[in-house]
Amino acid sequence: MSTTVTLVGKRAPVLDQGWIELQDLMGDDLAIVNAARVSYMGETKGPEQDKKLLFYLLANRHTTPFEQVEFKFRVRAPVLVWWQWVRHRTWSFNAQSGRYTPFEESDFYFPPAWRMQAKSNKQMSEGTLPASEGAELTSALAEHYQRSFALYQAALNRGVSRELARIFLPGFSLYYTWVAKTDAHNLMHFLDLRMGPHAQDEIRAYATVIYQEFFRPALPWTAEAFERHVLDKRAAQ
Ligand SMILES: Cc1cc2nc3c(=O)[nH]c(=O)nc-3n(C[C@H](O)[C@H](O)[C@H](O)COP(=O)(O)OP(=O)(O)OC[C@H]3O[C@@H](n4cnc5c(N)ncnc54)[C@H](O)[C@@H]3O)c2cc1C
Repeated sequence: MSTTVTLVGKRAPVLDQGWIELQDLMGDDLAIVNAARVSYMGETKGPEQDKKLLFYLLANRHTTPFEQVEFKFRVRAPVLVWWQWVRHRTWSFNAQSGRYTPFEESDFYFPPAWRMQAKSNKQMSEGTLPASEGAELTSALAEHYQRSFALYQAALNRGVSRELARIFLPGFSLYYTWVAKTDAHNLMHFLDLRMGPHAQDEIRAYATVIYQEFFRPALPWTAEAFERHVLDKRAAQ
């Protein structure tokens, strides 16, 4: 059975109740090599030469052959992850709509720890709140979710439309589901940014799962070249 077939349909858990599922995958490392070789109407020349060519392409930013491989994911993640993800304009998205589907009481994100505001960087976290204080905040958050959901439900029960009743719900922490498609070139750009040290922990968790569970097994040569020519260089900077 090919790697493509075993990976498609696989669902990997992320955060407390999110996940990513690979819905579809088109192409593999060889598709990238063969796309590049169409320039002179050639095809595979055996694993050694093929891998060498792929590394050359990535190192020299000959990017379009990597666009011949496509990934389609179904994602369940908090809205705060969605807002960061949709900034990537080279992806195609379709999302669940709170206008059609009512939310459930369990559709809220609980962070595993309360990260503290970083002193050195305005947008980042560093360290975590001590466990006992963290537990107090988590129970306050649970109460807040319950109260918000009760208000949402009460509005729906009065006949208020789903599109308006949802304003009672805490917007950043609601779990949403969407379908997202991109190609290997633009996925590497996303992974480079969102696995990076400046990315928020929550989206970094999704990017890391994409990389480890789907990208690397689907494109082992490309992943090796990406680590050598992009990730390792970035880490050394
Ligand atoms: C750590 C971090 C912090 C961030 N903080 C903020 C923030 O505070 N505020 C904020 O608004 N955003 C923020 N962003 C989002 C960021 O500005 C980008 O919108 C996001 O990372 C998508 O990157 P991109 O445009 O390169 O990717 P994509 O949209 O996927 O585009 C990929 C590449 O295609 C090309 N491209 C795509 N569309 C165009 C276009 N219209 N014109 C020219 N070239 C194009 C560019 O070369 C681009 O790099 C942050 C991102 C990160 C990773």
